[in-house]
Amino acid sequence: MNMQAPRPAIRTTCAYCGVGCGVLATPDGAGGLAIAGDPDHPANFGRLCVKGSALGETVGLKGRLLAPRIHGQDATWDQALDLVATRFRDTIAEHGPDSVAFYVSGQFLTEDYYAANKLMKGFIGSANIDTNSRLCMASSVAGHKRAFGSDTVPGLYEDLEQADTVVLVGSNLAWCHPVLYQRLAAARDTRGTKVVVIDPRRTATCEIADLHLPLAPGSDAALFNLLLADIARRGMVSETPDGLDDALAAARLTLPSATGLAHSALRQFMDLWCNSDRVVTVYSQGINQSDSGTDKVNAILNCHLATGRIGRPGMGPFSVTGQPNAMGGREVGGLSNMLACHLDIDNATHRDAVQGFWASPTMADRPGLKAVDMFRAVEDGRIKALWIMCTNPAVSMPEADRVAAAIKACDFTVVSDMFATTDTARLAHVILPATGWGEKDGTVTNSERRISRQRRTLAAPGQARDDWRIIADVAARMGWADAFAWDSAAQVFAEHAALSGVAGALGSDFDISDHAGISGDGYDAMQPFLWPQSARQRGGRFFGEGAYHTPSGKARMLAITPRAPQPLTEEYPYRLNTGRVRDHWHTMTRSGLSPRLSRHLAEPFLELHPDDAARLGLAPATLARVSSAHGHAILRVLVTDRVARGQPFAPIHWTGETASAARVAALVPGAVDPVSGQPALKSAAVSITPFAAAWYGFAVSTRPIAAACDYWATGTLQAGHQAELAGLSTPQDWTATAQAMFGISADPVVVQDRQRGILRMAFTDGDQLRAALFVAREPAALSRSHVTAMLGTASQAQILSGRPGNDRPDEGAVICSCFNVGVNTILNGIASQNLITVEAIGAALSAGTNCGSCRPELKALLLRAADRTNARQPA
Ligand code: SF4
Repeated sequence: MNMQAPRPAIRTTCAYCGVGCGVLATPDGAGGLAIAGDPDHPANFGRLCVKGSALGETVGLKGRLLAPRIHGQDATWDQALDLVATRFRDTIAEHGPDSVAFYVSGQFLTEDYYAANKLMKGFIGSANIDTNSRLCMASSVAGHKRAFGSDTVPGLYEDLEQADTVVLVGSNLAWCHPVLYQRLAAARDTRGTKVVVIDPRRTATCEIADLHLPLAPGSDAALFNLLLADIARRGMVSETPDGLDDALAAARLTLPSATGLAHSALRQFMDLWCNSDRVVTVYSQGINQSDSGTDKVNAILNCHLATGRIGRPGMGPFSVTGQPNAMGGREVGGLSNMLACHLDIDNATHRDAVQGFWASPTMADRPGLKAVDMFRAVEDGRIKALWIMCTNPAVSMPEADRVAAAIKACDFTVVSDMFATTDTARLAHVILPATGWGEKDGTVTNSERRISRQRRTLAAPGQARDDWRIIADVAARMGWADAFAWDSAAQVFAEHAALSGVAGALGSDFDISDHAGISGDGYDAMQPFLWPQSARQRGGRFFGEGAYHTPSGKARMLAITPRAPQPLTEEYPYRLNTGRVRDHWHTMTRSGLSPRLSRHLAEPFLELHPDDAARLGLAPATLARVSSAHGHAILRVLVTDRVARGQPFAPIHWTGETASAARVAALVPGAVDPVSGQPALKSAAVSITPFAAAWYGFAVSTRPIAAACDYWATGTLQAGHQAELAGLSTPQDWTATAQAMFGISADPVVVQDRQRGILRMAFTDGDQLRAALFVAREPAALSRSHVTAMLGTASQAQILSGRPGNDRPDEGAVICSCFNVGVNTILNGIASQNLITVEAIGAALSAGTNCGSCRPELKALLLRAADRTNARQPA
């Protein structure tokens, strides 16, 4: 444990989404952190969502990799670094620079990204470095470059507060960018902002929508083409970008039926868009993660460019990034088809300038492999040495089973990570311990181009090192010590800033060279700032007065021919929609450590329309086997009309560590957008069949649960662990099964009703509950909140009832994770205390009064209660 004296709050930034909220982290002197929102940070002004609020629950040493490992054995840094450098150097010598690759991460700090990019492109001489940001926003990058001539985000967060209409397309802002959602919701309350949500699902974001358009999957480009044609029909085209006529001609060919929307809904949308001068169109993974994502982006940009609604207060297209530093990666050239500082790898002048600045021996002279192609090259042996840093592609890549097999078969794989047990780290020859959030110094750039410091708040555990330092250590052993001789993250940042001055002189929009001479103290004191600080910029925005980075200086509109999504087949008749949940992040390596974040949705699930569920014979809370041509998953059935018929939804977060078969990316084909190379992770054609469980179970234990049945999904509790379980056949000896699962040799107390197929057993230590197992023929009907709260504290009688006593009502599923308020408590409060607003619920029950992430769900519960009341009224 890190024993440190208590210190004052340290200003840093959140580890999670692209909103980039400022955080005040106060070390407790014992290795922990108290977390609060930074009231002075311009991204959040003190707000944090539940994920940010729970950061302090994720900084312990649980599961941390504390020393390098070679073939599963602890090693010294010298041994590990020598081996990595030797294998990469030998591979390059024998097979050339393109036989090696780096796969990095949008959770890298900019300094890490800069070091990796410099090593691969300027010293190894290949551009085979790509990032998981390819999975997140590569289509936005490509769309920006086609339209603006540069990858420039034109607007600012405050535009969402100044707009008259905000359109959210392919974005569940309430759950994926909660603080930005809260800023929008507050502006809507104050100014009456109209909000349109365009999404096949009725998501939590719809709770503030004036209009929800449940368009046909993949028809976003058709919708914006129709809007463009309508803009022209109304005589609203006010600009003359290049390509205007062709774009209009293509738009006029689009049929309204392509969207699947009613004429009246389309009319309402177009009236809102056209009659509001100040319109912001926010888009995210629902647009980008498509095999025509770049066209969708340009269809959106076309509407803003034709009307000049860009780069001015309250108007513009706005791509919000999923990851905390996807933007920083774009700045340093972390994608395989970029150079550095928004310079072009295809441009010889740009390459020469960067090579001159780096004084490097070589320079990649063409784009490298993008993520999907990179793992194909690993699979077929073209890539023989692979270094994966700070990411988990064995879970997150499409066709994840195939990717995992390719990594496993690679001649030499290195993984740098905080944990040795991720699905990817378990496949590596060498694992290098990296520092994580809270332990490293650097910068991140959020979705509005604001660069903020992430500061070290805790000492590095064990032998963990910062990623930029690990990369520099390997570079030095490969013979380039002088070029990587940084002593601090501040020096890396200063070099990057200096390079941006070279880029700026070549016309790049990214120029932060004002910071090139920054000292260590200056870096420590750095305040969040927007780039660039040039005359082009007006109020922090781009393009309000033109000055695009195209040869003509004008914006470019693209002629977009909408593409229908891949057709479904008889074998795979459902179109699975994938996405995120409110309280988890990516592959849960960090958020899965937090008991608070594990309360909201504790198990992988499949949202299914009631008609589909009835047709498939799937009752609520049973299990479904979901299969595609590429893999399968077993998921809990959630029957809901939030999804359309034939369009089930499943979240992406669960891994081989946390569930038996719930890596949803394994179902998704490796199809990519032809321009950006971004995989179409949003959708997969699947079949669904019942998982014929002979029994269902629920277990809690103070120690990790070693489930060995056909279905399991684990979660973290305050006092231990929980697991949902199911099996296709019933074990002969339940006691032995439970003892093995819990690692306990003592005999349990057992309650059994053979006729009803119910079995309950508890393992105690004195009067303290150590573990319990509940088994039934049907999905285990018991109060999870009661059972989990009893762990480590209760008597057997209290636990084995599976329900709280009459004096303690069942909380139900947790809605407010901050105050642990369940759905039943909220519904009872609404009914018995006549609570009619979210604020009244907060005042009575505290729910929604901390981070506010659950407020959309509170609103939905109010509507549900009102519907019930109305249904009971006499006609
Ligand atoms: S919105 Fe939440 S997850 Fe995103 S940066 Fe802010 S606190 Fe972190």
